[in-house]
Amino acid sequence: MGSITETRSEAYLYKHAHSNDSYLTVEAGSGLYLKLSDGREILDATGGAAVSAIGHGNKRVQKAIVAQLEQVEYCYPGFFKTACAQQLADHLVKSTNGKMVRAAFLGSGMKLLSKGARYIDISNRTVGSEAMEAAMKLARQYFLELSAETPRYRFIAREGSWHGATIGTLAIGDFKARKWPFEALLSDNISRVSACNPYRGMKTGETSTDYISRLAQELEDEFQRVGPDTVCAFIAEPMVGTTLGCVTALPGYFQAIRDVCDRHGALLIFDEVMCGMGRTGTLHAWEQEGVVPDIQAIGKALGAGYAPISALLVNERVIAGLKQGGGDFSHGQTYQSYPASCAAALEVQKIVEEEDLLANVRRMGHYLGSLLHDRLDSHPNVGNIRGRGLFWAIEFVADKISKTPLDSRLGVAKRLSSTGLKEGYDISLFSASGSADGWHGDHVLLAPPYTISANDVEEIVKRVCRVIETIFDDLG
Ligand code: PLP
Repeated sequence: MGSITETRSEAYLYKHAHSNDSYLTVEAGSGLYLKLSDGREILDATGGAAVSAIGHGNKRVQKAIVAQLEQVEYCYPGFFKTACAQQLADHLVKSTNGKMVRAAFLGSGMKLLSKGARYIDISNRTVGSEAMEAAMKLARQYFLELSAETPRYRFIAREGSWHGATIGTLAIGDFKARKWPFEALLSDNISRVSACNPYRGMKTGETSTDYISRLAQELEDEFQRVGPDTVCAFIAEPMVGTTLGCVTALPGYFQAIRDVCDRHGALLIFDEVMCGMGRTGTLHAWEQEGVVPDIQAIGKALGAGYAPISALLVNERVIAGLKQGGGDFSHGQTYQSYPASCAAALEVQKIVEEEDLLANVRRMGHYLGSLLHDRLDSHPNVGNIRGRGLFWAIEFVADKISKTPLDSRLGVAKRLSSTGLKEGYDISLFSASGSADGWHGDHVLLAPPYTISANDVEEIVKRVCRVIETIFDDLG
């Protein structure tokens, strides 16, 4: 019988859609680097998938987790909460300047509006997908509390979005390569409109104002098509991450979208799982959009890789609706509000605040963007470089003028990741294949930790450029 320390690759079943041919074994992590079992050090330029917000191996967070485990490792979230969970809730609600409000932890049978509680829901057994599923359920329940006869059960989402890998979130997302095997299981109560994607979506000669009006009209038309009073919520990533690759909306777009939702009484749900918690230079991505969602999902950078944790932040309107039904959110999971996860996330968020890391995100993000433009704007296959904060993407094309995407059979996205991991390049890059995955343009994402220095930025750009040169030289 084998011991549990043996590594048997065939036993490791799970395969990520964009993973490379074989997995590399990571032995340790420190700052920006992951150390492999063969001694190589890999620069983790996308922080996994925009997770590693304060770098690897942070001792403060490690200690906080151990301290919580020493106090209590688990208590049933339907009956109990821990101090670190409460403090994390308070910290997050405070960070929204009152825009998102009070309640209590998610838990089966637990009152959301228990006295003094300001927070609604930390759905933190796992991560982003669960927060988004909980957001959908919460939206539906909100309307049910207002009226048991509510006709609202639909969601309108956007093209080229990604909201998670569970059955509910696959349905709202638009990642065709990950979705098609499971189509038969997915709800058809979801429809889709175009995302605000200026590089790909704006017509020649169209002004920003016209483009925004066209998109708002498309949403209005979709409400009318499905029946405005059947829609629970419109769902969007304020900055699209994985799929389209760091696409920011034009200023004014989300206000126009909010107006359409308000006109029809539908909720606005923001998926900030990838772009939230500081990634774009403000703690919440919506702070730069001039609108506040009704429900907001956060994940990745909340626990920054130290714990699988996600959360929902919810505004007063939703709480008021739930109050009509007594305040319970009908959603409970065994490991939600897991104490060690809350302790980890609380410590991560204290570090982000105490070390003023968001100022560094803005400063280094600006530097990263300018270096990428300097080095890559003239490359014949670089179609667009875009980003905000420490969240940048480079989109590749076959032709710069026509913006023709690369042939998916070239496998450029996969080559970007696998070449980066080869000896001599030593950089971990998250990439996505546009044409193969159901939208336009292969791209690579950069999302380094908020602690990054100017030297680190230069090293990332140097290595990324080498990877890109190698791939396009090979392709001829
Ligand atoms: N929402 C967005 C915007 C994401 O980028 C992701 C993951 O990449 C998810 C939801 C799902 O999160 P998870 O993979 O943690 O379940």
